[in-house]
Amino acid sequence: MEPNNHGHESRSESGFRWVLTNEERSNIAKILEIEEDTISHVKGNIMCRERIECSGCGKLSGLDDLVHNAVAMRVHSRDFILGVMAGGPQTRAYAHKMECSNCSHGYEGVFINWGGYMDD
Ligand SMILES: [Zn+2]
Repeated sequence: MEPNNHGHESRSESGFRWVLTNEERSNIAKILEIEEDTISHVKGNIMCRERIECSGCGKLSGLDDLVHNAVAMRVHSRDFILGVMAGGPQTRAYAHKMECSNCSHGYEGVFINWGGYMDD
């Protein structure tokens, strides 16, 4: 099956680049209860698959959803997430089952944070 192209990402050798949008950055700041400036250097991350549309509300999956899920499901602590985001790229791949941070509808499949965060 050919993946849908939403025009937001480009294929790279190691995965799909999810470039952080201003809206996502703002959502992440709210979820982590931090100032947006704290993560102003975060450019996005490399995922195993393209963003998909939430079948509940139409929102595109994003890094804000990953953060929302990590916090909501207590996969990682806020401090850990903040440390990873502030500390730059890391190489461990994390598989996440993900739900929409906007309407809590589950996205289909599993999302893997493939190549860590973008550093360029
Ligand atoms: Zn949704």
